[in-house]
Amino acid sequence: MLRITVITSTSLLALLAIATAGLWGRSFWTGDQVGGILTRHLTNECVSWTLSVDTGRGGVRLYYSRVAYPDTAVSRPYWGLNPPGLRTFHIAYVNPQNPATQPNSRQIWSFFGFARQYETWKNFQDATVHAYVVPLPLVTLLLAIPSMLVWLGPYRRARRLRNNLCVKCGYDLRATPDRCPECGEVL
Ligand SMILES: [Zn+2]
Repeated sequence: MLRITVITSTSLLALLAIATAGLWGRSFWTGDQVGGILTRHLTNECVSWTLSVDTGRGGVRLYYSRVAYPDTAVSRPYWGLNPPGLRTFHIAYVNPQNPATQPNSRQIWSFFGFARQYETWKNFQDATVHAYVVPLPLVTLLLAIPSMLVWLGPYRRARRLRNNLCVKCGYDLRATPDRCPECGEVL
């Protein structure tokens, strides 16, 4: 039962690793996004919370924003992949032609595909934005590690048995085929 669970979960992680590798290549061409917006209508303002995960330019971004705006415009919730109009995300998606989108304060930190974004807007909208970007190859690597460990174990064991080495520690057992003098493993 444990073995089936381990094989199933590592296979699933391996599939996810392959999927993120695919997303990495795709992210240079187009972005993908899943997320949701929750909007509450108050007496004379709307408050929207957005939580989304999107890809672009080799990275994956976790995005959170809280926006309050002084009207009752209805924003429709979305849930899907690659909404129309989304090509790639930008760490700072500021439109220089539109002063309403200029953040009052912005902290952008980026290093080798990692990035952190923090913005507050106090113009038309009262907004706070938090976002973190991680390079997709790192996600692929982390997802692949469990399956590599699980699949490399039997491979190493078979190779040691073939070469008359101790399956536990790799010590040469040609002189002592019954018991490993190094670690005491009984064969
Ligand atoms: Zn041994």
